[in-house]
Amino acid sequence: MRNFPLNETALRSAFMFDVIIVGGGPAGLNAALILGRCRRRVLLCDSGRPRNWASRAIGGFLSRDGCPPDTLRRIAREQLAPYPDVRVKDIEVVAAERRETGFHVLLAGGAAVSARKLLLATGVVDDLPPLPGAEAFYGRGVHHCPYCDGWELRDAPLAAYGKGASSRDQSASACCRRPGWATSRRCWMTWKPKGWRCRRRSTRHVNKP
Ligand SMILES: Cc1cc2nc3c(=O)[nH]c(=O)nc-3n(C[C@H](O)[C@H](O)[C@H](O)COP(=O)(O)OP(=O)(O)OC[C@H]3O[C@@H](n4cnc5c(N)ncnc54)[C@H](O)[C@@H]3O)c2cc1C
Repeated sequence: MRNFPLNETALRSAFMFDVIIVGGGPAGLNAALILGRCRRRVLLCDSGRPRNWASRAIGGFLSRDGCPPDTLRRIAREQLAPYPDVRVKDIEVVAAERRETGFHVLLAGGAAVSARKLLLATGVVDDLPPLPGAEAFYGRGVHHCPYCDGWELRDAPLAAYGKGASSRDQSASACCRRPGWATSRRCWMTWKPKGWRCRRRSTRHVNKP
C-alpha cells in the first residue's frame, strides 16, 4: 500500500464506514465479526493471498484442527453474513491516506472509500530460504512451524535447517532435539553452495534430500 493524492471531488464521493479492514485472513475476519456485533459499519477488503497459501490443513487451532485453511475463511465469511453492517469485498487496497476527516482508501479499480478508523490486518509474507526444493515442497515436506505440522510428521525422519549461530537456528536445533516430534532419525542441516552439511546427527538413519 502507498499514500495517494485523492482530489476533493473523490473525497466527497467516498463512501464512509466506521472501520475499513485491510486483509481478510483470520485476524481481519475476527475483527469484522466483533465490529459487526458492535453494529459498526465495516468494509473488509481482501486480496486473497493468505500467508498460509501452501498449507493443506490447520493444526492446533481450537475447533478447526485438521481443517483446510480456505474452509476456515469460508466459514468465517458465512458467519459474517447475519451482520448487515459488515461488507466483504474481494479487492486489493492499493493506497491509504490519513486526513483530518478520517482515513481515505483507494481500491484497485479506482473506487475510493473512507472510514473513521483503518485496521491493517494484512498478515506477513514468509521469505523462504534459497534452498533447492524449498518452494516446491513448502507446506508438503518443508515446514516452518513444528506446532502447525509436527504432529502429522511424527516419528518421520526430520532435518532442521538453520543458517548460523543465531537464536533462530537455536530454535531449529532445539526442534530437532526435542523428544516427541521425531524419534531417532533427525539431524540439523545447513546449506552451503557445495551442498547440504549435517551439523548434528542423532542416528545412522538420516534421510538426505
Ligand atoms: C505454511 C503455513 C502453515 C501454517 N499452519 C498453521 C497451522 O497449522 N495452525 C495455525 O494456527 N497457524 C498456521 N499458520 C500461521 C497462520 O497462517 C497465520 O497465523 C495466519 O494466517 C495469520 O492470519 P492473518 O489474518 O494475520 O494473515 P493472513 O492469513 O496472511 O491474511 C492476510 C490477508 O490480507 C490480505 N491483504 C494483504 N495486503 C492487502 C491489501 N493491500 N489489500 C487487501 N488485502 C490485503 C492478504 O491477501 C491475506 O488474505 C501457518 C502459516 C504458514 C505459512
